[in-house]
Amino acid sequence: MKIAFFGLGHMGGPMATNLLKAGHELTVFDLQSALVDGLAAQGAIAVQQPADAVIDADVVISMLPSGKAVSSLYLGEQGILRHIASSALVIDCSTIDAATAKHVSRQAQQAGISMIDAPVSGGVAGAAAGTLTFICGGSEEQVAQAEPVLLQMGKKVFRAGDHGAGQTAKLCNNMLLAIHMIGTCEALQLGADHGLDPKVLSEIMLASSGRNWSLELYNPWPGVMENAPASRGYAGGFAVNLMNKDLGLAVEAAMDSGTNTPLGALAKSLYALHASEGSGQLDFSSIQQMFARDS
Ligand code: NAD
Repeated sequence: MKIAFFGLGHMGGPMATNLLKAGHELTVFDLQSALVDGLAAQGAIAVQQPADAVIDADVVISMLPSGKAVSSLYLGEQGILRHIASSALVIDCSTIDAATAKHVSRQAQQAGISMIDAPVSGGVAGAAAGTLTFICGGSEEQVAQAEPVLLQMGKKVFRAGDHGAGQTAKLCNNMLLAIHMIGTCEALQLGADHGLDPKVLSEIMLASSGRNWSLELYNPWPGVMENAPASRGYAGGFAVNLMNKDLGLAVEAAMDSGTNTPLGALAKSLYALHASEGSGQLDFSSIQQMFARDS
């Protein structure tokens, strides 16, 4: 297939590499030319203008940082929607607000183009290993059409519901992730402050009712889990700034629906504070440091 790929950052870069490995003809664009050059060196076709990437494309994929970036790529005078063939399928994998996802897919529909939202879970490691989970919003037919290409970058494809539903499901997940990460950090700090070994405490809680994903696969205490970001100075992984963005979207979604999410709001405040103290680029499990500093 001919695939146009926009956004070659931490996630988009390895996702694009996996599509090249699968044998597709890939045309790429990013605002940072060094990232485009990196993919071109692997066999992708580089273009100077976004519109040039989508001519003749069967599938268009974007992996961008924000709703604003997604709107500016697809819509308006300079937007690529007007250059995409009506037979093409557009898949936006960025994590953005559901309202923008719905708006852009509606504009696509009015231009006769099929578009779904398909934000991902699995992080940079999952993008590199091709084990991402895609959480899609769109019609059953559209998601079924996208599935074969998504499975070349991931292992699971879910349909959460109609357009925008993929974004909503992703935000619910990440709000819960932030809450149980913070809870895990608090519990480990409390134990350590009372003289417990965090590794032993982790083993006890893993075999007890406090068990959760953060504790099991992403332990935030340095040295407890060899491959976790905590054991390499919280480098790499899922940045505090991105978690902060997702929590902002979750809080906005809660306000839209009038849903009471006090723990989500508290998690948002704690991550915003952590980011403002210079930790924005660290992995999100570094929120452990906030409790250590205050103890
Ligand atoms: P990133 O900042 O590394 O990459 C984003 C890329 O998009 C950058 O290279 C930027 O130059 C490019 N870009 C911005 N506007 C553009 C435009 N108009 N046209 C072309 N390129 C443009 O971010 P990332 O970590 O790759 O994250 C991308 C998306 O994936 C975000 O929405 C993020 O929330 C989501 N996500 C990230 C992770 C993670 O662990 N990093 C995990 C799950 C989901």
